[in-house]
Amino acid sequence: MADIPVASHGVFGRRQINRLPQDLEKIAMSTIKKKLLSELDKCARCGACRAVCPIFKDLSNESLVARGRLALIKAALENDLTVSRHLTKIVDCCLLCLRCRENCPSLVDTGKVIQSARNWLANKRGLPLPMRFGFRMVLPHKKIYDFFMGVFRLGQKLFFWRKIKPSGKTLRHIPFVFLNLFTLSTHVPRLRSKPGLQILPGSFRGRKKLKVAIFSGCLNNYVYPQILEATIDVLKKSGISFILPREQLCCGTPALVYGDTATARRLAIKNIRALQPEKVDVVLTACSSCGRMLKDEYPALYRGQSDTGRLVQHLKNKVMDVMEFLKKYTDHPLAKQSVSTTYHVPCHAIWNKSAELTRSLLKDISDYRTTDKEDLCCGGGGAFSFKYQELGLSIGQTKIASLLKNPVDQLITGCPGCMMQLTWLLQKAGANQIRVAHAIEFYRNSLK
Ligand code: SF4
Ligand code: SF4
Repeated sequence: MADIPVASHGVFGRRQINRLPQDLEKIAMSTIKKKLLSELDKCARCGACRAVCPIFKDLSNESLVARGRLALIKAALENDLTVSRHLTKIVDCCLLCLRCRENCPSLVDTGKVIQSARNWLANKRGLPLPMRFGFRMVLPHKKIYDFFMGVFRLGQKLFFWRKIKPSGKTLRHIPFVFLNLFTLSTHVPRLRSKPGLQILPGSFRGRKKLKVAIFSGCLNNYVYPQILEATIDVLKKSGISFILPREQLCCGTPALVYGDTATARRLAIKNIRALQPEKVDVVLTACSSCGRMLKDEYPALYRGQSDTGRLVQHLKNKVMDVMEFLKKYTDHPLAKQSVSTTYHVPCHAIWNKSAELTRSLLKDISDYRTTDKEDLCCGGGGAFSFKYQELGLSIGQTKIASLLKNPVDQLITGCPGCMMQLTWLLQKAGANQIRVAHAIEFYRNSLK
C-alpha cells in the first residue's frame, strides 16, 4: 500500500491563517458537521468505490478511496478530533472526479462530502494565504484577473520556455515568482496575448428566434479562445443570435472545491447577472466542469433563497453543453475528415450527453478508434495536477499508454482542463504529433 502523496508545493499546505471569529466559526461548523454526518451515515462500506477510483487504482491506499476517506472524516467529526495533517491530506488528495458517487449503490454524494469537509477545514483552520488571495482578490475582479494573467504571460515570454521535441512546439512556463508554487516542470500552456472575452464579438443577431448566452470559463478565455471562436463560428453559420457577456467571471469551481463557499456564491451571482438566463433560451458552455458548476452547484449554493433561487433555477434549466446544443438545434451537413481520432471522456461530463454524441460524431466523420481506457480520468482534476503532479501524471499515463498502442492523429475531448493535462501527458510521452482538440473545433472544421 502506497503512502499518501505529499503535495508537490509546500505553499498549499502552509500554516493556515484567516480563522473566522469564534462564534461564527462555531455556528458554521455545527451546520456543516450535521449535514456531513447525515451523508456519511449512508455509506454501507461495500467497497464498490474501490473499483472506479483512479487514485485507489494507482496507490491501493484505503485511506484514499471514498470508503476510507468517509470513515476517517466521520471518526474525526464524531470524536471532535483535532485536525491532523493526515486528515487534511486525505480530504485534499482527491480529484473530485465523482466516479465513486456515480457508482455508489447507497447513493452517497461523495463529492459533496469532500467539498463540505474541505469547507469545514477551511472554517476551522482558514485558507492558505495564496488561495485566499486568489479566490477573494483575483477571481471576482475581472480587471485584476486579466492583469495577473498578463503578468503570467509576460513571465512566460521573458523567463521560461523550451523547445519540446520532436514537433518543435514551444512550451512556455510561468514566471520565477511562482516557481515555489508550480515548479519548472509544470504544464501551463502558453497564455494568449488577449483573453477571448476581449477579442471575440460580444453579440450577434441571427435570423433565427433562438437566443443564446455563451459562458466562457477561465481556460477557454485565457488559454484556449479558439474553442470560443469555433462555438461562435458555428452559431453564426446557423443564424443563431448570441451574447458573450464581457462581465462574466470564473464559474467558481476552484473556490467551491477548496472550501471557500462564500467566494463561490459571490461568483455565481455575478455570473447569473451577466448571463441573464431569464432573457435567453440557452446558456451554452464548452467546458464540462463549468457546465456542471452552473447546473448542479449553483442551485445548491442558493437553495432556499427565493429571489436568487428563481434566477438560479432559470439558469439550471437552460445550461447546455455545446455538443448537446448542436444536436438539438442545428443540422449542418458535415464533411468526412481523413484523420484518425479517439475520444477522452471528461469526468465532469456526467451532467450531459456529450460523450455519446461526440463518439457518434467521430464515428460518422472520421476514422474513429476506440481504446479500452477512453473513460479513464486523465489525472488533471484542476488544481490537483499542480498539487500532486507525480500522482496526476501516473494516473494519466495509463490512458496514454493504451492510446499509444494504436496511435491516432487527433485526441478529442470536451473539457479544456482535460486538454491541458492530455497535451502535457502526450508531450511527456514524446507523442506531440497527436493533436489534442475540443469536439467543437473538430465539428467546426468539418462544416461543409
Ligand atoms: S460505494 Fe458508496 S456505500 Fe460503498 S463504500 Fe463506497 S461510498 Fe460507501
Ligand atoms: S472523487 Fe474520484 S478521486 Fe476522489 S475518492 Fe471519488 S473516485 Fe476517488
